[in-house]
Amino acid sequence: MLELLNKKQNKIYGIIAIVVAISMVASFAVYKEYFQQEVTELSYQKFLSKIEVGEVKEVHLSEASTLKGKLNSGDVFITDNPRTDNLKEMLLKQDVKVIEVNEQFTIVQIITFIVLMGGFAGLAFFLTKNNSKQASKEYDKMSSIDYSTEKKSQVNFRNVAGNEEAKNNLMEMVDFLKNPEKYQRYGARMPRGVILYGPPGTGKTLMAKALASEAGVDFLAVSGSDFVQIYAGVGAARIRSLFKSATEKEKCVIFIDEIDAIGKKRDRGGLGGSDESDRTLNALLTEMSGFKGNEGIVVLAATNRLDTLDEALLRPGRFDRQIEVGLPDLKARIEILSLYTQNRPISEDFNISALAQQTVYFSGAKLENLMNEAAIYAAREEAELITEKHIDKAFYKVIAGEEKKDRSNIAVIDRKITAYHEAGHAAVTKLLCPENRVTKVTIIPSTKGAGGFSMNIPPDKMYHTKKDMLNNIKVALAGRIVEEIIFGEDNITTGASNDIQRATEILTSMIKRFGMSNKLGMINYDVLLGQQGVDQNLVEVINKEMQKLYDETKIAIEENLPLVETIAEGLLEKETLKEEDIDGMFNGYMGKVAEIIK
Ligand code: ADP
Ligand code: ZN
Repeated sequence: MLELLNKKQNKIYGIIAIVVAISMVASFAVYKEYFQQEVTELSYQKFLSKIEVGEVKEVHLSEASTLKGKLNSGDVFITDNPRTDNLKEMLLKQDVKVIEVNEQFTIVQIITFIVLMGGFAGLAFFLTKNNSKQASKEYDKMSSIDYSTEKKSQVNFRNVAGNEEAKNNLMEMVDFLKNPEKYQRYGARMPRGVILYGPPGTGKTLMAKALASEAGVDFLAVSGSDFVQIYAGVGAARIRSLFKSATEKEKCVIFIDEIDAIGKKRDRGGLGGSDESDRTLNALLTEMSGFKGNEGIVVLAATNRLDTLDEALLRPGRFDRQIEVGLPDLKARIEILSLYTQNRPISEDFNISALAQQTVYFSGAKLENLMNEAAIYAAREEAELITEKHIDKAFYKVIAGEEKKDRSNIAVIDRKITAYHEAGHAAVTKLLCPENRVTKVTIIPSTKGAGGFSMNIPPDKMYHTKKDMLNNIKVALAGRIVEEIIFGEDNITTGASNDIQRATEILTSMIKRFGMSNKLGMINYDVLLGQQGVDQNLVEVINKEMQKLYDETKIAIEENLPLVETIAEGLLEKETLKEEDIDGMFNGYMGKVAEIIK
């Protein structure tokens, strides 16, 4: 196609070249005809006598100092120009052809001009016509987007291990995709957009595929980086093209991987530069608000980092559901490993749960890779079965380049520290704010930081009391305090940095904004000092208050160390504890305490 176009173009250029050449030759001939012949100089007397004998054919009249003319013989002559008014009349009376020079020049010039301009116009016309054709073709090509579609892919939710929460969430949507009319009848609006967030290789793409294939609809997969283009407007055009293809399909799952490439927080007030990505993001927002949500189109997006996304993306009607997809815990790793050993010849002595324990912080993708590498080693040796030896070799291949860790000892210290730290947060919450729910504690790092601890504060509270706030500070400090008690003052870690920030923020607002300090009174210190103002006295008061809270929390923990130990051991065993696990441990502990007191 491109070759054909080039051939056609070459032909056109050839024609243009010929036109230009002809016009140049023609004008040169005209020029030569009039100006380049041999010229004889005649005296004015001789000129007059030649007129009298009728030898002069034509005279070119001008205002110049010399006159030019042609004799009947064809010779060209020049003579002095008398510049008399009646010269023309005299010549005409003698039957000499008179050519006004201005006219003559105009004729030559017009001929040359027309021919040349014709050539150039033709050239310009063909060039622009071709260019705009080419450009619009190129633009069309750039702004349409290649997406991979898989309709009959065999992936279903059984191929996804762990991540129960995310799976359940997506499974709900299968029915919506299958029977959107059913929901339409009740006026139910299903989520239009869902963001799956979490570390790479945890099965986000896999789940999106599973959703599409279980619902039996098309799967349109693109990557955010496909929309990052240097040409203005191309990214936005690609978004429109993507949604157009989706609407044509009626029912489908659109999957946008690496959504952060388009949906980064907009740099408000920045000095340009981000105009193009703004345009792309706006196009996405418009398209998402555009469809009514009952058409059977679901947009899934994946990102490693939710916090970098523009808030506009997360508003209702856009990606209003955000589901965390975390690294697999022990149970999930056993499931994933079972999945990838299922159809492989594995030796009898291979112990899945032992391997699962040694693969803390492995993602699903890494576990899959591990089993695949082991299979490759076995195949190379043409061994009958995949053995412990092959898995061992594969293990080091998979973690190659990472910090060298003894496989049997992997992250033992990290795990233990994290387990005690998180147990501290959970135990203090249950002890000080029993009305708050601890919904999950895990030692698997989340996108929000090391370890993971989630607490639900009763949502029906309009105001936070002073006691709530003090307790929240104590909960935040508890992680570090347990580290100090169990591992010693010299072995405390950086794991508490978020906790310290949180504690400082709460305490500072209590004192600066909420008038909750007896020493500093009912004063808003931001008003008094300005936002950036630092007051030494204020710093001292905050510091002292924090130290007091730290000491009180430490005493509470030391008195209840067995509860912390129980939770930490549970975490080391299972890695993730659910609400019932924590409540069971807490109730058991309180029962024992009550007995002792009795
Ligand atoms: P992400 O999109 O989160 O980066 P993928 O879905 O692309 O990760 O995962 C890559 C591969 O890793 C999958 O194709 C699958 O083989 C494996 N994998 C990852 N997570 C899981 C899981 N939870 N269950 C089963 N396989 C998984
Ligand atoms: Zn912590």
